[in-house]
Amino acid sequence: MRSLLFAANWKMHLGPADTRAYMSTFLAEYQERPDRQVWFFPPAVSLETVSTAVRGRASMLAGAQDIYWEPKGAFTGAISGPLAAQAGARAALVGHSERRHVFGETDADTGRKVAAALSADLYPVLCVGETLAQRDAGDTLKVVTRQLEAALPPPGRVDPRLTIAYEPVWAIGTGRNATPKDAAEVHRAIRSWLKDRAAGQTRILYGGSVNLKNAAELLAERELDGVLVGGASLDPHGWAELVRTGVA
Ligand code: PEP
Repeated sequence: MRSLLFAANWKMHLGPADTRAYMSTFLAEYQERPDRQVWFFPPAVSLETVSTAVRGRASMLAGAQDIYWEPKGAFTGAISGPLAAQAGARAALVGHSERRHVFGETDADTGRKVAAALSADLYPVLCVGETLAQRDAGDTLKVVTRQLEAALPPPGRVDPRLTIAYEPVWAIGTGRNATPKDAAEVHRAIRSWLKDRAAGQTRILYGGSVNLKNAAELLAERELDGVLVGGASLDPHGWAELVRTGVA
């Protein structure tokens, strides 16, 4: 059976009270299925609310949108892997394009964060993707490979707890998604990079303006192991419907 991961990135939306209302609507409308996992990435202040709401549901978990690589200390405003885990997180996004392009996160930072997530026993979801200028210059695969190499450097094998999300920057929050064929081409290149490191089973998600209208068409492409969704995951009714019906 093909198993798919639906990941919801709420970005800077939904505090604890809104999250309680969201989760009660979502859980009333969505019945768990063995072939689908649903991962929620709320803002840090709502992690505990999500993790409490999904407790006992094997196919769901809460994850942090970002972690800092040090486990503790004088890093005002940051949260570490162990702190996120204490709030109930079981996964962490790393290198989301907004972290890279709004907050100036570097490739080297993503490497430290992947390692920090693993040592806190969190599943890292490493986001990679090119800007429009890089795509137009024909540099997509070069950029994505550079991002993979920086975040998952040798020595050692690629950890099986890792998930990759291919998210072209030009498709995030713009309403312009990659075509299934374009996404598949990059997924194949990522998979081949992973295969060379004995990690061909690593899940690769697509993200970038996925919504109720295009999810089924994108997921019909077998290279996609799931989707990472921002805007269209903010409405619990729509998100429940997308997870339910998003597979052709
Ligand atoms: C995201 O935040 O990772 C994302 C893909 O956003 P959107 O679905 O809104 O493009």
